[in-house]
Amino acid sequence: MTKKSGLGPSFTGSDYFFRKLASGISGVLYIYWLSADRETHRFLFVSEQVHGILGLDPDTLHKNADALFATVHPEDSNGVGSSIEESVQSLKSWQYQARLRVSAGHYEWFEVNATPERQADGSTIWYGQFHSIQHYKELENTLREREAESAFQADFQKLIARLSTGFINLGFGTMDQSINELLRAIGSFFGVDRAYLYEFSADGRVMDNTHEWCADGVPSLIESQRDIPTDDFEWWQGKIDEMVIGNRVIFIEEIEQIPAGPERSMLEQQGVCSMCCVPVRVRGKVTGFFGVDSNRKRTWREDQADLLIIVSGLLSGAFERNRLETELLNQSIRDPLTTLHNRRYLMPRLDEMLGRASRYGENFTLAMFDLDRFKRINDSIGHLGGDVCLRKFADILLEQTRETDVVARFGGEEFVVAFSGVSQADVKCTVGRIIRAVRDQGFIFEGTTLPLTVSAGIAAIAELGDVPSSPDLLIRLADDRLYQAKQEGRDCLVDASGVSRI
Ligand code: GH3
Ligand code: MG
Ligand code: MG
Repeated sequence: MTKKSGLGPSFTGSDYFFRKLASGISGVLYIYWLSADRETHRFLFVSEQVHGILGLDPDTLHKNADALFATVHPEDSNGVGSSIEESVQSLKSWQYQARLRVSAGHYEWFEVNATPERQADGSTIWYGQFHSIQHYKELENTLREREAESAFQADFQKLIARLSTGFINLGFGTMDQSINELLRAIGSFFGVDRAYLYEFSADGRVMDNTHEWCADGVPSLIESQRDIPTDDFEWWQGKIDEMVIGNRVIFIEEIEQIPAGPERSMLEQQGVCSMCCVPVRVRGKVTGFFGVDSNRKRTWREDQADLLIIVSGLLSGAFERNRLETELLNQSIRDPLTTLHNRRYLMPRLDEMLGRASRYGENFTLAMFDLDRFKRINDSIGHLGGDVCLRKFADILLEQTRETDVVARFGGEEFVVAFSGVSQADVKCTVGRIIRAVRDQGFIFEGTTLPLTVSAGIAAIAELGDVPSSPDLLIRLADDRLYQAKQEGRDCLVDASGVSRI
């Protein structure tokens, strides 16, 4: 607001008293005059403090008030102008808060209070003062920040409580759901575009994006983030090392902070602007990382980092527990020598398959295998050599069957494969392939090649007429046929059609 200096009225009154009065207060007392056409303005009186506070000379302000208005912060300038205009119109007191540039060169908040009085010539005079309210503004800001922080803390604690209950109640098999729920909760809480979990392969050479949450309208990236070779991302590797050593959160507030390279290109291509990541450990080893992305530039706060660290702790704990549970479960349902499923696992699965056969009329066939003259193998190469053969045979069974077939070690050197929904001809074919593979394999132990063969008995539910209530009949039939195969000279299979030599 630049105005002419003009003459206007002069202040000749009790100058002495004013000065006395003004010297006792911390702000600036003044009498401000504005012409009727708003073209001219000056301070009829302004206390000496204006010099100390704003570095302005009172004599200059007596002639023209421009110098003082020039200290108003550009963002507050319009507001100051309109608040004066409002006071001119309404003759109500002029009260306003604005930032002024102080003598030290920075801006501070001030509050102005003045009472207007209209003059006979239409000009206006205000009697008032302005003083610094910087301290209160700062307090107010701190208070606001604290409130925001404590609101964040309260919400944060609620969130953590909810998520940890979710993880503690984690039943076996719901791990993925819980992780997805966790990503959703964190993603929405942070107001980010994406939240994700990456896992490293055991040798650390590749990483996979295993879980992802995307905000509405944000494209998913998970499909493009599989088998990513970690060697390609040298800079990121360094960052991960930092995370690992310091158990630190990695903040990238804007993508420009990343040196040009494959990481930056990838993130740019994905439209990611800002991210925040934290490592996930299982039994002390970093197995992956968890993070959030924003497609806008943003700053991350320490308390948000704390939240991510807590969440990564939850994840680590859940992974450890899940691994332990999986191990325990595996121990109880798997044979330690061959890692195939054991009889404990097999029996309920056979019941299930029988149920399907009865409900949907699905074919259900059982093949029983018994290694030939296995005692001799043990006798010639010892029990440990025999163990190696058993493992090799287990591998052949897994190689020759499909994932949906149930392969189990029934006991000793006897194995079972249960086929669901496979024709009898196909089963016979598979069993034949197994017999041939064993014969052709040539089991080598400590330099000696051992002849090893296997016999098999096959029984299908269709042969039994009515579907029986338990799989025992089927097992017995397969076992009888296996015995028959042994009688027939071994290294062969017996099914409903009799002996087949392959
Ligand atoms: P057949 O052709 O009639 O089946 O003759 P076989 O010698 O295989 O028959 P038998 O059932 O008499 O002997 C099975 C042998 O398998 C006896 C046992 O020592 C051996 N065996 C069972 N379990 C294991 C194991 O876990 N490891 C080893 N090395 N041998 C085992
Ligand atoms: Mg045997
Ligand atoms: Mg046997």
